[in-house]
Amino acid sequence: MAHMIDGDELAAELRAEIEEEVSVLRLSAVRPGLATVVVGQDQEAHWYERHLRRLAESLDYRYSCDQLEEYATLDDVVATIGKLNADPRITGILVLRPLPGHISEHQVSAAVDPRKDVEGMHPWNLGLLAMGTPRFVPSTPAACFYLLDAYARSRALNPISFYRGKTLVIVGRSMSVGKPLAFLGLQRDTTVVVCHSRTAEAGHLAEHVARAQILVAAAGEPGLIRGDMVSDGVVAVDVGTNAVQDQVSGKVYLTGDLDLPSVSAKAEAITPVPGGVGPVTDVWLIGNVLAAAAMAAQVEPRFGALITRRLLLEKD
Ligand code: NAP
Repeated sequence: MAHMIDGDELAAELRAEIEEEVSVLRLSAVRPGLATVVVGQDQEAHWYERHLRRLAESLDYRYSCDQLEEYATLDDVVATIGKLNADPRITGILVLRPLPGHISEHQVSAAVDPRKDVEGMHPWNLGLLAMGTPRFVPSTPAACFYLLDAYARSRALNPISFYRGKTLVIVGRSMSVGKPLAFLGLQRDTTVVVCHSRTAEAGHLAEHVARAQILVAAAGEPGLIRGDMVSDGVVAVDVGTNAVQDQVSGKVYLTGDLDLPSVSAKAEAITPVPGGVGPVTDVWLIGNVLAAAAMAAQVEPRFGALITRRLLLEKD
């Protein structure tokens, strides 16, 4: 059976590093401040807002949340972001998704001050990521590589040769997950294949997935990837977080895009859902708020240095 990469444990380690850095920054009177903006009544967005509030407050960050009505206009959202951009106590801004259909995601991302864009979704920050010199690495793709790096370290594998020349197959091409994953994969010298719904419609998903030495599933379809589709020894990361209702008990539970029993029977290592990518994602985002605070105060951010070391793998 595959080695299970423990996201909860790794998130706790990352959090401890952030806690230490927060206490160092406090000596220079620097305090990170996270502002969230929620538009409408989406239950998951509200649940995530409360989750982030608890996480930020437990680290003694400043925290604020603006809640806008479902019928708020793009101008209303941009005005709220403008107020937060101008507030020096706020070092990171997160506009929660999903947004109501009449609000342009691109325009919202572009309205956030790129120095406070802890999601890394501003066009400038995405451009920096594509160039291989990121300011903020989007948290979910960062979490995937954080887990993979940790796995390589735990096996005493050379982190450079762990990736170099390997075939990395990503299922999903969203702006927040699939595309940044592709840039990070290229940065590590993997050969990147990105699949999407048209790949599946054309009947080519299985053949690409079968070539994966490292596989990241981020499609949002429960059990999309089965064991009979993957190669022996694949290292598989499951981003999918799907709420599914049990047919018998009626209970709702979370499951990933990988069919865990059959894929883990063939994989070398795998991340579970829940307890894999999710917890590291949350802590990474909070770490980006810390890095933003350090950058705003022009204090050398050690977390920033860690990002460089861990996510870009300084080349020999
Ligand atoms: P998204 O914006 O809906 O994108 C899904 C991507 O998957 C799209 O590119 C889509 O293709 C592709 N896709 C859908 N069905 C497919 C299929 N049958 N075969 C191949 N590709 C398929 O979703 P997202 O925001 O990237 O999130 C993806 C999943 O990750 C969701 O389950 C979400 O809940 C989860 N997630 C988890 C975390 C975490 O921290 N754990 C964070 C973010 C997201 P097209 O582009 O052609 O439509």
